[in-house]
Amino acid sequence: MFTNDTLQGRVALITGGGTGIGLEIATAYARLGASVMLVGRNEERVQAAAKSISDEGGKAAAMKCDVRNYDEVKQAVEATVERFGALDIMINNAAGNFVCPTAELSPNGWKTVIDIDLNGTFYCCHAAYPHLKASRHGGSVISIITMLGVSGWPAAAHAASAKGGILSLSRTLAVEWGGDNIRVNTISPGPIGDTEGTKRMYIDGGKGDLEAKKTALGIFGRKVDIANAAVYLASDLASYVTGDNLIVDGGRWLKYVAE
Ligand code: NAP
Repeated sequence: MFTNDTLQGRVALITGGGTGIGLEIATAYARLGASVMLVGRNEERVQAAAKSISDEGGKAAAMKCDVRNYDEVKQAVEATVERFGALDIMINNAAGNFVCPTAELSPNGWKTVIDIDLNGTFYCCHAAYPHLKASRHGGSVISIITMLGVSGWPAAAHAASAKGGILSLSRTLAVEWGGDNIRVNTISPGPIGDTEGTKRMYIDGGKGDLEAKKTALGIFGRKVDIANAAVYLASDLASYVTGDNLIVDGGRWLKYVAE
């Protein structure tokens, strides 16, 4: 779909890069010429993910980083620049979530998800900013959200509020940092069938078909659909695209509104 040099010479830091959508983005980026730093809390997992990319011939490194901790985020940013010489693309993909009706949600449960998703995204954007500004390609921030952060998400008020907050943060930064040649965008995936979360929540419980039919296309998305969107947004193909929320949900959002 993209030429092999689409992301040649760029450096990306990917939170939650050891699993799921984050790893798919990292793998796609490395195949298209980028160097990737993967971070997550489970060091063994991110190291194994980086090795799988290196074994394929890609340039990858990994380190432990909890995005709730600003010092660790700063260390990850600095380590990326030290290892690969720059930071051009910041991918905010790490997230936490659990199902819980709001009346039963503890303040600690609320705070944990807001800390990972919203505060973690802010920390990464903030720490990455000087390097993104210095990028010779122009900086790019891409945060993975969901349209449930716009529509509301019954039994996941914490995640809905965090994702809605990230959308607002991204639009704000798109305007604040546009003059620094930094583009700031979000991607809103629909249900992605080959992720553990969708398997666990829907497919394993026999609700896969029902959930897939909630999309206009009637099928689950794949991790690669999100990786393709992330390649596009990080590349020169999207050099005039900022402040956008690229919805990659098979029409799930429109069907939700229409019906
Ligand atoms: P996933 O495999 O569970 O990935 C989440 C990643 O975040 C893990 O690698 C995890 O690694 C990392 N993480 C969690 N807490 C962290 C922390 N405090 N610091 C650093 N890293 C942390 O989930 P996924 O399905 O690929 O989802 C990826 C993104 O897509 C998320 O933002 C999610 O909200 C969004 N999304 C997914 C779907 C879907 O259908 N799957 C739909 C819409 C949106 P550690 O545990 O090692 O920290």
